[in-house]
Amino acid sequence: MKIPFSPPFINESVIQEVVDSLSSGWITTGPKVSRLENRMANWLGVDKALCVNSASAGMQLMLEWFGVGPGDEVIIPAYTYASTATAVLHCGAIPVMVDADPNSFELSINNVEKAIGPKTKAIIPVDIGGWPCNYDALFQLVNREDVQKLFTPQHPHQEKLGRILIMADAAHSIGSKYKGRPVGTLADLTVISLHAVKNITSAEGGVVLFHLPAPFQNEEEYRKNKIISQNGHSKNVHEKALNDGWRYDIVALGKKINMTDLGAAIALAQLDQWEEMQARRNEIFHQYAQALKSIKGIRLPQFADDLRQGNGHLFMIQLVDASAEIRDQLISEMKDLGIALNVHFVSLPQFTYFQSIGVQPENYPHAVQLSNSEVSLPIYPQLSDEQIQFLLKSLIFVLSKLGIG
Ligand SMILES: *Cc1c(COP(=O)(O)O)cnc(C)c1O
Repeated sequence: MKIPFSPPFINESVIQEVVDSLSSGWITTGPKVSRLENRMANWLGVDKALCVNSASAGMQLMLEWFGVGPGDEVIIPAYTYASTATAVLHCGAIPVMVDADPNSFELSINNVEKAIGPKTKAIIPVDIGGWPCNYDALFQLVNREDVQKLFTPQHPHQEKLGRILIMADAAHSIGSKYKGRPVGTLADLTVISLHAVKNITSAEGGVVLFHLPAPFQNEEEYRKNKIISQNGHSKNVHEKALNDGWRYDIVALGKKINMTDLGAAIALAQLDQWEEMQARRNEIFHQYAQALKSIKGIRLPQFADDLRQGNGHLFMIQLVDASAEIRDQLISEMKDLGIALNVHFVSLPQFTYFQSIGVQPENYPHAVQLSNSEVSLPIYPQLSDEQIQFLLKSLIFVLSKLGIG
């Protein structure tokens, strides 16, 4: 039996919606991107949503919007995917990585606090595996009088906010909640990924959710960034086609990071089936948790607690006392049985590139240790009951063979 790690959810409705775009002759940014933006904003309870071609591009766009540049620092977890850091680097600023707490994949608020200095312009919390960070604690921190005093605004948007920006890397956490509030309403700006492996996809894509406090006008900031995302054109090609033909202006230094209608069609059709897709994910998550709970030596992910509700984007297991070799052996033996496991993530300080710019793994012992002991199980709505049973049976067998039981 073959169990791939994370195939995209493509059924007849998804195909129909894409075919509809193809037949309409309108394949790039147009009516479906607008529909997706409105739908995301309404669903997640924010003023505005901007669709772009990746979460990576969305994060970089918004850091630039906030005036983050050379000499500035942005605090990020060491335990994340590379683009949390590269978004900062592409602005010319320094990603200040913070170590994890022992035995937790979550952002360490204590370590964030220690990393704040006069150059800190933003914090990018990452909702790993769809599990929301502790946003109340983060906001308490950036609003604390001594922390606000440290903040040195150097750009009109920084002046206007008057404190460190919180921009969530919510690449994993579409639909998750914190204190009953959906991801999107938890940070000043939130960037969701619609990459092919995420819960909802547009093949490649990202959504920036605008939830900036007054006196910001989210509508206005959305409009400015929309224009930048389409090469600085005052109107996109669809608007031109609808309106007065060829004439347009270039009104800002743009980038080419717009989403296509073909991609938006996939995401719209999936959103129509969100309830069912999410319900199946939850069911699988609980089946895994139930079947594995008595195994000593592993730590299972949480699905919900008093504050939070995850979305089962990943099922992250920590092999608490095992070496990286044992973890690798587990992955390899499961692969021989036809089951693809994965690692989320190799921590950033372990990568050649980040080491080449001076990031030292010795300074991130917990992130490195967590990374070496992590393994993620396949979890997606298309998994059949037979596949789930086979996966669990195989996993329990291989774990016990490796001395974890
Ligand atoms: C997938 C992912 C991203 C990047 O998303 P793209 O849409 O592929 O740019 C960013 N951060 C995390 C944590 C991710 O897992």
